[in-house]
Amino acid sequence: MRTAILSDVHANLEALTAVLEDLGQRNVDRFICLGDILGYGPDPVRCVDLIAEKCEWSLMGNHDFGALYEPTNFNVAAEQAAYWTRAQFEAEGDSEEARARWEFLGRLRVRVQFDSFLCVHGTPRRPINEYLFPEDAINSPVKMQQIFDRVERYALVGHTHWPGVFTDEPDFYRPDDLDDNYTFNDHEKAIINPGSVGQPRDSDPRASYAVIDHDEGKVEFYRVEYDVDSVVSKIHAIPELTDWLGDRLLEGR
Ligand code: ZN
Repeated sequence: MRTAILSDVHANLEALTAVLEDLGQRNVDRFICLGDILGYGPDPVRCVDLIAEKCEWSLMGNHDFGALYEPTNFNVAAEQAAYWTRAQFEAEGDSEEARARWEFLGRLRVRVQFDSFLCVHGTPRRPINEYLFPEDAINSPVKMQQIFDRVERYALVGHTHWPGVFTDEPDFYRPDDLDDNYTFNDHEKAIINPGSVGQPRDSDPRASYAVIDHDEGKVEFYRVEYDVDSVVSKIHAIPELTDWLGDRLLEGR
């Protein structure tokens, strides 16, 4: 059994399409999404349709929550993007398609446990909103302890847009440190972040995702090039999406 882990698509259709195409060669049996399908990007409706079609389930990210319910603790640009995003769904009217879409969005889950994996968008402590940053492994021992206390074996998280593996040492390993492969083992707990499909922030603009190989007991990290320029142009053409939301994609930050 092999599971594709997608997260933080952020309405970036070009990145999502490239990732799904890349996954065509990875022998994957199922897809899951760790949230933030919405927010920042220019194609929220089509991204939701693709995730709904492909993924067994998706989690509720803070940007999904912001667009569907209420943007809380957002900066001005993110709040404006959230209202614009909601308007795109409302503009679809009351067709059967639109209703199915609302139903899917209404079913987004806050936490899911499958096999030995606890899945949340943020952290096991605060599932929707808390960030678990790579530097927390060094700077925040109490936070790390409290988070790992809530993890029985393994957890999958998104939200920071930084791919990698936290262990309960605590330590953080970037995919580069691991040759893009981490093997689960009995002597440590691990929290895996697959990185962001649609808005990477680790200075690598390529879309990021991961695959869990359950039989071999490992996780593989992948990066995929996509047509960033098209997305930047779309964002620049939408007044409600500030230009920076496009520009940052070019640098992966
Ligand atoms: Zn996000």
